Amino acid sequence: MTTRLRIALQKSGKLSDGSIELLNKCNFNLNPAKNHYLIKSNELATDFLMIRDDDIPGFIDSGASDVGIVGENLFIEYQLAGLNKNVEIIAPLKFAKCRLSIAINQNSNIKNLSDLNGVTIATSYPATLANFFKLNNIQANILVMHGSVELAPKIGIADAICDLVSTGTTLKENNLIEMEVLLESQAVLIGHKNLKPELKSRVDELVFRFQSVIKAKNSKYIMLHIDKQNVPLLRDILPGAEAPTVLELHGHPDKVALHVVCEEHVFWDTISKLKNIGATSILVVSIDKMME
Ligand code: AMP
Repeated sequence: MTTRLRIALQKSGKLSDGSIELLNKCNFNLNPAKNHYLIKSNELATDFLMIRDDDIPGFIDSGASDVGIVGENLFIEYQLAGLNKNVEIIAPLKFAKCRLSIAINQNSNIKNLSDLNGVTIATSYPATLANFFKLNNIQANILVMHGSVELAPKIGIADAICDLVSTGTTLKENNLIEMEVLLESQAVLIGHKNLKPELKSRVDELVFRFQSVIKAKNSKYIMLHIDKQNVPLLRDILPGAEAPTVLELHGHPDKVALHVVCEEHVFWDTISKLKNIGATSILVVSIDKMME
């Protein structure tokens, strides 16, 4: 009988939707209901365990699951807390990007890092914050909270907070401003360091599928018309256009249609330059999967 691959996912929270979306683009067809704690899939003979994200590294360490998707910040916290025995990062997944930052009240007397000496900082990431204090020679108190950290200064139980920031809206809503970024984070696939070969090969297949989807998500297929003589100029404007597909245009001997793949942000950064060299009929098409 095939050994089932056990993947731990966050049941609900900032990572759940992104994890399900990524897996579904890889043919898993997951549609978890509120009371689903175990979802069985025929795809790669996989069982999904829907649990709290902070339980995921421990589940993998103890062998209760083989791999899982967590925020890198959570893995770093687990590591710095001295709990990690067998867990490693397998692949970055490029969603749920955020940063772990110290934030202070807009009217705070705290101006720089040395002003943090003697203050109390509320956080859900005590090991990462303690490590930061150690590296910067700061003596401060840590108040551990597992939610609503941003309220701590307002209700007078802390002078500052150390929390995840994504858009910055939560900080703004609570009159807080970011003063120091401790680390940048994104969703990562983590897994047990010593997986059996039959599980390891399926994890490799999973990573290959993830990477095909991630690459496609950040890229666009661009089609445009341009004067034949201006094709070489394109190389300097659009990275990735070193070897574009060039097609004849019927009835326009001096023009060609050009197809190229490039990262979406590159396209937006260069659209005006493309127009300047006479590019017309520009079409930008989403890509579903990209394989090397
Ligand atoms: P925002 O208002 O977009 O800056 O988001 C901040 C709030 O969402 C804070 O409560 C954070 O703890 C939480 N948060 C933001 N990004 C993440 C993430 N990638 N993973 C977990 N929690 C997050």
